[in-house]
Amino acid sequence: TTFNDFQMKDEIKQAVREMGFEEPSPVQEKAIPDALEQKDLIGQAQTGTGKTAAFGIPILNKVTEEPHVQSIIITPTRELAIQVSAEIQKLSKHLNIRSLPIYGGQSIGHQIKALKQGVQIVIGTPGRVQDHLRRKTLHLDKVNTVVLDEADEMLDMGFVEDIEAILKQVNVDRQTLLFSATMPPAIRKLSKKYMVDPVTVSI
Ligand code: AMP
Repeated sequence: TTFNDFQMKDEIKQAVREMGFEEPSPVQEKAIPDALEQKDLIGQAQTGTGKTAAFGIPILNKVTEEPHVQSIIITPTRELAIQVSAEIQKLSKHLNIRSLPIYGGQSIGHQIKALKQGVQIVIGTPGRVQDHLRRKTLHLDKVNTVVLDEADEMLDMGFVEDIEAILKQVNVDRQTLLFSATMPPAIRKLSKKYMVDPVTVSI
């Protein structure tokens, strides 16, 4: 498989080439075709395997220039939010869309201002996302894709209630992608409750 075999926007193919990706990594090869077809997906993969592009490419393939939040990616830590955001920005270099990381420890006023400018993809930590939802400075009613990145870490950190509260605010006909290095029972329970016939890929 090559990136050209994926049915996706030429702008993404160009970005992938410029990033120096020669061929899809194993998790990308297994996850991207199903994710491009809007299937819910559970990916068992560690950091360093190319999992960010495995969910980032399908998100970018369906994003439009409409200035509202269409995808939300939840990460356990500020560091991961920043890292995922940087990768999404590179992958979306030739698309006219904005992505924004939102995390605790950064001025909320700054984030509110940035959100008001029209952001299509938000990458956030659970607590800060909840904070924006309570303030009504983040609206998830037009979200069509949710990613839970490093879901096992988020559960270990005690974020399960925040995650469930966020998932309950997003349309049920969304696509849900869950990535986790391990698959403990709590992750299976979460996936049963919030995902529809998920495809599982593991590497
Ligand atoms: P991740 O697991 O998403 O954190 O990715 C780890 C690193 O691998 C990042 O620097 C990516 O830019 C890079 N990467 C992702 N996919 C590929 C690929 N298909 N070929 C080469 N490098 C890649």
